[in-house]
Amino acid sequence: MKPLNPPASATPLHRAENLLILGSGPAGYTAAIYAARANLAPVLLTGLTPGGQLTVTTEVENYPGFAEPIMGPQLMQQMRAQAERYGTIVLDDIIIRVDFAASPYGLVADSGTEFRAKAVIIATGAQARWLGIPSEEHFRGFGVSACATCDGFFFRNKRVAVIGGGNSAVEEALYLTHHAAEVILIHRRDSLRAERILQDRLMKHPKITVMWNQEVLEVIGTDAPRKVTGVKLRSISDKAHPVEQTLAVDGVFVAIGHEPATSLFRGQLPMDKGGYLLSAPDSTITAKPGIFAAGDVKDKIFRQAVTAAGMGCMAALEAEKYLAQWEG
Ligand code: NAP
Repeated sequence: MKPLNPPASATPLHRAENLLILGSGPAGYTAAIYAARANLAPVLLTGLTPGGQLTVTTEVENYPGFAEPIMGPQLMQQMRAQAERYGTIVLDDIIIRVDFAASPYGLVADSGTEFRAKAVIIATGAQARWLGIPSEEHFRGFGVSACATCDGFFFRNKRVAVIGGGNSAVEEALYLTHHAAEVILIHRRDSLRAERILQDRLMKHPKITVMWNQEVLEVIGTDAPRKVTGVKLRSISDKAHPVEQTLAVDGVFVAIGHEPATSLFRGQLPMDKGGYLLSAPDSTITAKPGIFAAGDVKDKIFRQAVTAAGMGCMAALEAEKYLAQWEG
């Protein structure tokens, strides 16, 4: 990615825009495709991870239109090219400050660019959630990861643990079998919430074992060199008599869900207690006129690429209607 900070001497650029789209996942790019085709001259800021969560996944099997699985990064490149083809301006930049007090809204980017926008579509998505234990933080990047496709390669013929029981955890575990000798899925309950088709693949895989009803207490490792050597677990199947044990592993992949990327909007837009942006029923309209929310940033239920894309489409259509009123 290009450096985001301009030289100190550079003066901030001021840009007045019709429609700014924040985020470059399926919601952002779909909003851009619809908005560009409606001649709204959208400007899309990619954020820190251009392409979003699908760029750190492997094969996507459930995005309609691809009879054969498509690789996540390739799908996102196609979406970007499609958005640009119809005139979307895509900037590799992130917004670091917003002022949604009055329209046109003020947004400041990391590059120094100051935007004024009549309408904004927020599609900033979600980020991986962490366990929140100090040892996890200590070994992050040294054996603890939240991205098997990014880091799985480093665990060739090793023994790794995956924490979680949802689709992400199962997909991470299955992916890691391409590299690791042994994968142990550690889940805090006695049943998974992952889709049945993924559960079946997991259970049948000869390299994978599942440890049920286990809580992760600590990641264990050495400091010179800094590396993971195991995890300390507490069995919680009998809550009255918890049993602790240490499992020797070389890597720990945390796959326990996601958190919406909304800290930037705190105090400016209403959100629920989980930080997800709130919008009107059956709509992407937020409490502020001309500000719309689409995709994982407002959806804690479905969180699929295809539902995010659908919401991006809704947001662009609603922005088009809003901007027509502005003109009129
Ligand atoms: P998720 O469905 O919310 O699952 C999170 C898992 O982590 C749950 O099993 C949960 O346990 C566990 N967990 C949460 N906090 C924990 C903690 N502090 N310690 C230990 N375990 C913890 O999240 P996800 O798997 O990332 O999936 C998110 C969404 O994306 C879902 O809607 C999913 O369907 C979707 N997704 C879809 C695909 C696909 O279609 N191929 C792929 C990936 C993700 P409990 O079960 O006990 O709550």
